[in-house]
Amino acid sequence: MTDKGKSSQVSGFYKLPIGKRVEFVKNFSGLNEEETKLFSSCLDMDIADRMIENVLGTFEIPLGIAVNFLINGKEYLIPMAIEESSVVAAASNAAKIARIKGGFKTECTDPLMIGQIQILHMKDVAEAAQKILAKKKEILQLANEQDKILVKFGGGAKDLEVRILDSPLGKMIVTHLIVDVRDAMGANAVNTMCEALAPLLEELTGSKVRLKILSNLADKRIVKAKAVFDKERIGGESVVDAFLESYNLATIDPYRAATHNKGIMNGIDALIIATGNDFRAIEAGAHAYASRSGQYTSLSLYYKDKNGNLVGELELPMAVGIIGGAGNIHPKAKLCKKILGIKTAKELAEIVASLGLAQNFAAVFALSTVGIQKGHMSLHAKNIAVMAGAKGDEIDKVASQMVKEGKIKLERAEEILKEIR
Ligand code: NAD
Repeated sequence: MTDKGKSSQVSGFYKLPIGKRVEFVKNFSGLNEEETKLFSSCLDMDIADRMIENVLGTFEIPLGIAVNFLINGKEYLIPMAIEESSVVAAASNAAKIARIKGGFKTECTDPLMIGQIQILHMKDVAEAAQKILAKKKEILQLANEQDKILVKFGGGAKDLEVRILDSPLGKMIVTHLIVDVRDAMGANAVNTMCEALAPLLEELTGSKVRLKILSNLADKRIVKAKAVFDKERIGGESVVDAFLESYNLATIDPYRAATHNKGIMNGIDALIIATGNDFRAIEAGAHAYASRSGQYTSLSLYYKDKNGNLVGELELPMAVGIIGGAGNIHPKAKLCKKILGIKTAKELAEIVASLGLAQNFAAVFALSTVGIQKGHMSLHAKNIAVMAGAKGDEIDKVASQMVKEGKIKLERAEEILKEIR
């Protein structure tokens, strides 16, 4: 135990009844009774009605907890909102293996987002670009007047870049406003600044501003996670070699890379959703970043260390916030942030990357050895049992019988159900 005596390491967590699991999380994260009750509650209709338009109700997906995470020497329980079976178990298992060699180590850039302002119909593009750069100080000042709170916390517009692009409509300028968004995701903050700058840029260049919006390719806001997976624990050097052979395909083939990266996003999206962050923004950024060389490829990197252990690294843009957006409104998102015990958006980004790496390791490890269906089957069998009409204890009985027989089919579930009733 490294973090004030508390540990996220727990075995057989999945065997506990839900109430005992809640009790464990309550004690770990210091939740009060009211917060604990939130786990089994639904989003209030009034809150839902204020979040989006034309609300009819709410849509529930399971919220699980990944255990065993040790990140930069700190213990974490990681909430995951996801509908797919095996993902939470796989992350917890990978984190358990990573602990042997010290857990996950991360690093993160400043939270710099890019806002784009597109300028068209200039007589002299190079001259217009010069005029914009000459007024950089005034432009940044005007941007910062839009968000005094952000500036007060040490953020705000920090830099300006001017790009000249060729297009079928002729040359255009895309001005990049670089904004430090501190603990916010930053989309609203950046968009407001970009819109406020449009008239000034039109005046400076004597031309027309069209788009004014942030870029989801947040490649100035990068997080990296690294872990060493113990050679002996995963089955020896031959398993490490098998892992690297499997991984290798993702580095050269976009068809495999898409699935490989989807496995990373299994973990990432689940935490992004649980904390009320924008998973479309994170997905868009991740896949665009995976294509930065001109070919879509793996977001992760694997190699052997000098002792033959498997080293995994994951690097991607991470536009997450702990302030603003839905995470400020949704009671369960607030609860999930409390469970994590995070103090900054940077810390959340580092947990997200560690989870993505754990998920990726687990998937490639399973694929290189037993295949992923084995892990999926027992939960899949439970779903089939429910489809067949099993209730309460019957679900486990029908599911385990089907797994034992290696025959997970609806017809068989119905037969077993009849037999046991
Ligand atoms: P926001 O505007 O709700 O909150 C951010 C604001 O909080 C800052 O501008 C600042 O004024 C204030 N603040 C207070 N304390 C702060 C601190 N410590 N650090 C930083 N800011 C602090 O949220 P946002 O993060 O600007 O925008 C996120 C929302 O925008 C998400 O809901 C997202 O879905 C949405 N969105 C996304 C896109 C996109 O990704 N393309 C486009 C439009 C909107």
